[in-house]
Amino acid sequence: MRKVRLGRTNLEVTRWALGGIPLSTMMGGRDEETIHKVFTAALDYGINLVDTSRVYMDSETMIGQVLKTRRSDCIIATKSHSRTYDEVMADLEDSLKELQTDKIDIYQVHELLAHEAPIVMGKGGALEAYKKARDQGMIDFIGLTSHHVDLAIELMKTGEFDTVMIPFNIIEREPEKELLALARSLDIGTLMMKPLAGGAIRNIAMAFRFFNGYPVDVILNGVASLDEFYANVREAENTEPLSEQELKDFEKEVAPLGQDFCRRCSYCLPCPNDILVPVFIHVIWQKMQGRRYEELSELDRRMGRNMLMWWQGCVECGQCEQKCPYDLPTIKRKNDLLALFSVEDAG
Ligand code: SF4
Ligand code: SF4
Repeated sequence: MRKVRLGRTNLEVTRWALGGIPLSTMMGGRDEETIHKVFTAALDYGINLVDTSRVYMDSETMIGQVLKTRRSDCIIATKSHSRTYDEVMADLEDSLKELQTDKIDIYQVHELLAHEAPIVMGKGGALEAYKKARDQGMIDFIGLTSHHVDLAIELMKTGEFDTVMIPFNIIEREPEKELLALARSLDIGTLMMKPLAGGAIRNIAMAFRFFNGYPVDVILNGVASLDEFYANVREAENTEPLSEQELKDFEKEVAPLGQDFCRRCSYCLPCPNDILVPVFIHVIWQKMQGRRYEELSELDRRMGRNMLMWWQGCVECGQCEQKCPYDLPTIKRKNDLLALFSVEDAG
C-alpha cells in the first residue's frame, strides 16, 4: 500500500487506513478474536494508521490489546468528544491507558458542532487541554473532526489544527468545493471518513477510485471481517482516477440513495431504552420505505414483526435525533414502521 505525507504532521501514512468503529465488540458486533485478527492482518499488510475514539465503546481497548506488542507499526489517531479542559484531560488519561501507550500521535476534537466551537476554542475549553498535552509530550498533533464542512473550514483557518477529518464520498461532495484546496494551501492533513457512505455505496471499486481524482491524503475505512478487509484494501490499491464518463455513470448509479440515509456512524447511540437506532430503525426503514405490507416478502414481514416490541419501547425522547449529524427523523420513521407492521395479520 502506497504511503502519503499527512500534511504538516510529516507523518508518512498509508493512503488507506483503518476506521475504529467496527473494532469494537459493542459497536461492530464482532467478538474479540475476530477484531484482533482483522487488526493484526491490517498491520501485517502494512497499514500503519488506525483511527478510533473514546466514544467508540471498547474500540480503544481492542486496539490497545494488539498494539501493546506492535506500537511501532502503527500511528494512532483517537478523539475526545469532551469540550472542556478538565474533561479532555480525563479522557486523554483513559485513552492512553486503554491504548496501552504513553503517547497518542494524533488527538482529535470529535464531531464538533457550531454551538460548541466557542466552548472548545475559549478559555478553559478543550483546545487548551490539547495544547497542554502536546507540550507535555502526551500527544504529537491536534486534529479536528466534523460532519459540518463550513465549521471545519472556519476552524482550519485558526491555524490550531494539523489534520481535518470529514465525510467525503461520491454522495457527500461538499468538501470538494473549498475544504480540500484550503487544506492543501494550509498544509493540513486530510482524512476522509465514510468512503462507502456507511455501507450504502456497494460499488467498492468505483468508490475507492473516486478519491484518486482529489487531493486527499487518507481514506478511512472500517472493516468488520478479514474478507471485507482484503476485498476493500485490494480495491484501494488501484491508483487510477475515474474518467469523466465513469464518474457520470457512478453518479447515476448512486442517485437513488439521495442524501437521506443512515451512515451507521452510531452517533445517535446510546438510546436510554437500548434501542439500536441505526439498525432497528433507519436501516430497516431504508429497506422498507415506500412499500406496502402486501408487497413485503415473508422474511421481511417476520423481521418486522420481531422488531415491533423494540420500536414500541421508544418513548420519543428525541435524543437520537439531536445527536444524528444528518438530522434523520428517527421518530417519524419508527412510527412509519410501526404503522407498516401493525396491520391485522401482523400478530
Ligand atoms: S441515525 Fe444518524 S447518527 Fe445514527 S447511525 Fe444513522 S446517520 Fe449515524
Ligand atoms: S427517540 Fe426513541 S429511539 Fe431515539 S433515543 Fe429516544 S427512546 Fe431511543
